[in-house]
Amino acid sequence: MANLGKYTLFNNEIIPTEEANVSVASSAVLYGLSVYSVFYGQHTADGMLCFRLPEHLKRLKQSAMMIGLTNVEAELEKDFKLDKISELIKANNVNKDQFFRLTVHATQLVPGVRTSDLELATSIFMYEAKNILPQSGATLKTSLWRRTADAAIPARAKVNGAYVNSALAKQDAIDAGCDDCLFLNQSGHVSELSAANIFMIKRGELITPDASSDILEGITRRSIIEIAEESNIKVTERKVALTEMYTADEVFACGTSAFVSPILEIDNRKINTGRPGEMTMELREKLANAQSSKESIWTTLL
Ligand code: PMP
Repeated sequence: MANLGKYTLFNNEIIPTEEANVSVASSAVLYGLSVYSVFYGQHTADGMLCFRLPEHLKRLKQSAMMIGLTNVEAELEKDFKLDKISELIKANNVNKDQFFRLTVHATQLVPGVRTSDLELATSIFMYEAKNILPQSGATLKTSLWRRTADAAIPARAKVNGAYVNSALAKQDAIDAGCDDCLFLNQSGHVSELSAANIFMIKRGELITPDASSDILEGITRRSIIEIAEESNIKVTERKVALTEMYTADEVFACGTSAFVSPILEIDNRKINTGRPGEMTMELREKLANAQSSKESIWTTLL
């Protein structure tokens, strides 16, 4: 991983990143039993501005709860204290924007497949924040692989093991010369990308797959909806057909690691003119402005 911080917060202790390890015999490694979230930190002279950190912690707890990991709340309260994260930032002495990956790992050794009453470990490591999609615009391929159904492994939960689904689809897209995949769900409706949500704009209205379309309910997605509503743009969350995307005026992806990225082509079909759309660029700028302000959505860690 590029520009990984030298130090990691592991079980409430700051240790060298290469020493922050879990066993090959742990449930985390054997079954992908761990949950995570990644938040964005903007480096400023006044400290690191952490975008919607409380929401990330809440989603992490909910992810653990959904898959039945127990005692997570107590672990997080003990290990993910803001002063400890500040210490981590100081130890790493960075001068660039960062992504922070928070994980709860099931470290129990070979317990068979179950999720409750397992030993847990926590970690936070940081790395330089670089967009996972080209800022100038990305191309997508509709995946042969379908999004995992809510009744299989819920996409709503950020479970590490579930990301095999994303890896399969993203690789398929890369092999086809595209930047990312577009997932459909089991019923054939548009879901999301490998690690970002998707929006389209039609006749000035912002439309995105709803929460029952097997999506991760992205924190950036929610921010975009709020920003659009504040700007008097009509927002609709509903089922979306693939061909609606083909014929949209604009399409964009969003997420912590994708920010707002214009989508220029899906399945070799140009979206409108094949250039980044006006409303997309406006929303991108408004998100960037929100990310540069010290409003309540930020937690400033000095
Ligand atoms: N969908 C998936 C599958 C993701 O992994 C991510 C990245 N966390 C997102 C959407 C975007 O979510 P967020 O805005 O909370 O980063």
